Amino acid sequence: MNKRDYYEVLGVAKNATDDEIKKAYRKLAIKYHPDKNPDDKDAEEKFKEAAEAYDVLSNADKRARYDQFGHAGAQGAGGFGGFGGFGGGMSMEDIFSQFGDIFGGHFGGFGGAAGGRSRRQRKGSNLRTKVALTLEEIATGVSKTLKIPTLVSCDKCNGTGAKNGTAINTCSTCNGSGTVISQQQSIFGTIQSATTCPNCEGSGKVITEKCDKCHGEGVERKEQMVSINIPAGVAAGMTLSVKGKGNAARRGGESGDLLVLIEEIKHPHLIREDSDVIYNLMLDVVTATLGGSVEVPTISGRARVKIAPGTQPGKILRLRGKGLPSFNGYGTGDQLINIMVYIPEKVTDEERKILESLQNSENVIPNEDTKNRIFSKLNHMFE
Ligand SMILES: [Zn+2]
Ligand SMILES: [Zn+2]
Repeated sequence: MNKRDYYEVLGVAKNATDDEIKKAYRKLAIKYHPDKNPDDKDAEEKFKEAAEAYDVLSNADKRARYDQFGHAGAQGAGGFGGFGGFGGGMSMEDIFSQFGDIFGGHFGGFGGAAGGRSRRQRKGSNLRTKVALTLEEIATGVSKTLKIPTLVSCDKCNGTGAKNGTAINTCSTCNGSGTVISQQQSIFGTIQSATTCPNCEGSGKVITEKCDKCHGEGVERKEQMVSINIPAGVAAGMTLSVKGKGNAARRGGESGDLLVLIEEIKHPHLIREDSDVIYNLMLDVVTATLGGSVEVPTISGRARVKIAPGTQPGKILRLRGKGLPSFNGYGTGDQLINIMVYIPEKVTDEERKILESLQNSENVIPNEDTKNRIFSKLNHMFE
């Protein structure tokens, strides 16, 4: 196949700047993008041709060799042999993975946009960590700085894994396409299937000499300080994701995410229930009978609560707005005070006499009316 001049393909001058080349390619790539030209072989060829031209002209080394030696020069890193290169080898996936970034938001990311073609670019793995929060922190929201051991891009080889970042060749097994075609005989005839190249693991490139700092991995382990703003109202079991703070991809690619699992530190007095908090208040018999005021803990400090005379166990008092803000931003919960009454477990002789003197008092003994009234109120709370 006779190749067109790369400058001609992109429609730029021989002395075009990097920016002009990028712009020209972007325009062509959008014009001939397969999403816009479904099942159009001609458009696909033009799309590939433009990508190939851009690959060479956007790289100073390749461009210099191309200027000097023409198409053959652009293909051989150390001479003209052994490359095979772009000839027929550049797959659509290559184009998407290598040039996806210059499209910006145009196609909303190439992952699924390319009609089922999988994006072959490596992504670093996600990291998981936990953060335990107090109810007070959950009530207001909190920012935390977490120390996370992370695989980060090696600074010596720029994450390539290759010595000085340059000792890279195109994979000779797959000619840089990252995939190999295998043929199998079956009763239906020959079946062809494309699989990831085992030699380069689909990257299309092989390292000729490894970086001595990261031993060719392109990544190294470092403690990373990650700040995360945790919104108010989160709950145990929720996972917040910090984009790009996971492990770096081996030999280039997008970093994974950091997934932060929320845990709750048990409050010494308060029990959370969604956006409400519950406090079990144990009254003494005298205060429950005569009324008074008691102090209770809340998320925002202590509060004084009035106890009406004749307060029954099982009654629930509500402190409006003293709960937690809802995670969705709709209002704030309440603090519910669940009243219990402590019945003395032992008494002195003197106390016994006082209680015995009340034994037959009309006010101490519940009658049918009293029972009905109080039970119906309590039942009401469970409806
Ligand atoms: Zn390295
Ligand atoms: Zn390969």
